[in-house]
Amino acid sequence: TYHVTIVGGGLAGSEAALDLANRGIAVRLLEMRPQRQTPVHHTDGLAELVCSNSLKSTKPDSAAGLLKQELTALGSPLMKAAQECAVAAGGALAVDRLLFSRAITAQIEGHPLIELVREEARDVGSLASGTDALVLASGPLTSDALSSSLMGLTGRHALAFYDAAAPVVMADSIDFEKVFRQSRYEEAASGGDYLNAPFTKEEYERFVDELLGAERVIAKDFETRELFQACQPIEEIARSGRDAPRFGSLKPVGLTDPRTGRRPWAALQLRAEDACGQSYNLVGFQTNLTFPEQRRVFRMIPGLEQAEFARYGVMHRNTFIDAPRLLDARGRLRTPQAAALGVPVYVAGQLAGTEGYCEAIRSGLHVAVAVTADLQGVELPALPPETVYGALMAYATDEATADYQPMHVNFGIMRPLDPPVRNKRERYGAYAVRADAALVGYRRALEAAGLMA
Ligand code: FAD
Repeated sequence: TYHVTIVGGGLAGSEAALDLANRGIAVRLLEMRPQRQTPVHHTDGLAELVCSNSLKSTKPDSAAGLLKQELTALGSPLMKAAQECAVAAGGALAVDRLLFSRAITAQIEGHPLIELVREEARDVGSLASGTDALVLASGPLTSDALSSSLMGLTGRHALAFYDAAAPVVMADSIDFEKVFRQSRYEEAASGGDYLNAPFTKEEYERFVDELLGAERVIAKDFETRELFQACQPIEEIARSGRDAPRFGSLKPVGLTDPRTGRRPWAALQLRAEDACGQSYNLVGFQTNLTFPEQRRVFRMIPGLEQAEFARYGVMHRNTFIDAPRLLDARGRLRTPQAAALGVPVYVAGQLAGTEGYCEAIRSGLHVAVAVTADLQGVELPALPPETVYGALMAYATDEATADYQPMHVNFGIMRPLDPPVRNKRERYGAYAVRADAALVGYRRALEAAGLMA
């Protein structure tokens, strides 16, 4: 029998533990609670949902809905338990969090192939001895000792403790009559990597007024201390002086609006978020505004009046690795320091740089399949990029992704449809049909490789 050590009995770690054990692999699962609590967990239960009890939409033509279908089709034990603990929530899957956590804790405690050890993992080197593979799933609040040890594997700058993700909008919701393509200091005619949303003075003043008055997310106590030292949100920059954004991320220097032939009063730059230019990042617009306020205020930006958000900006305390430079498609660390440990090291869940409950569960499942394949010497079928998790992994492990910030599944990072579908609802439906077909093929490939639990 193979032995795998998993650190963290959260969503990703619990899923990976059950998946591996159900495949006949012995698991040692280390969970530091209750001896050592995190600032966001309240219980000693495994798979505790730390905030909302919603696992988001179940609609088959939404990215969140497709992710749930993947989890169900691949036999996820956590998704099954979530469905059994569901409470009424319209088009979403919400669960009774206590029942859910108790169900998972009982399954893990009762599994003959899982040894649950209530202890803090501190040193990656000692974890690696006496095991065939190591899975790190210690989440957004990975303990300090483990974080320092992990830095030895990733390098100091490849482990972040805060996310500060700027909003991302869908390309086809941008008004291309207003925005223009140009890189700073380059001729507009030469094109460029950036879209620019130009403000007149009046538009800028109105925008700053609303930005200053907009409702903000109240950061949790443990976050406020250091969060804003790590990164200044755009509304805080505006608070330091009405013109401050114009000298920062809204600076217009080196840009010429082709409609006026002049430099705009201010300009927001937008950079393609994915290789196919399906979505654009609002450069330098890290924000702590609530989601409805981001939608209201950022739609005042010229050219973004109809913007659809693929991701809203967030600022959190969040431990995560620079996945594009550190992880391969199986979720395995590919640094020389990790290789020197002598056992393969995988990273799952929020620590691996994905965002969201279901994403963490899916990531635990993916890593469990990869570990099984690697231990058994079986070729791992490739994750199809047409599935929502396949698209997320393709994005998260694409070395071209600069300044990586955690991402949840969304249609802004899917491969474009060929031929394109203009109508939004029809397009989402087409993504879903394509994803279903890819999932069927992937399941078959897993079955053929003997990798379905
Ligand atoms: P976790 O579920 O946190 O599991 C990690 C586990 O590892 C924990 O049990 C922890 O105690 C343990 N651990 C840590 N260090 C060690 C160690 N050294 N040794 C042993 N055990 C260790 N996502 C959503 O979809 N919806 C939300 O509403 C939402 N709200 C969030 C709110 C906050 C404050 C945060 C921080 C995140 C939120 N997320 C939310 C993001 C994310 O989905 C969750 O954090 C999710 O729990 C991540 O799953 P995980 O398995 O990676 O980590």
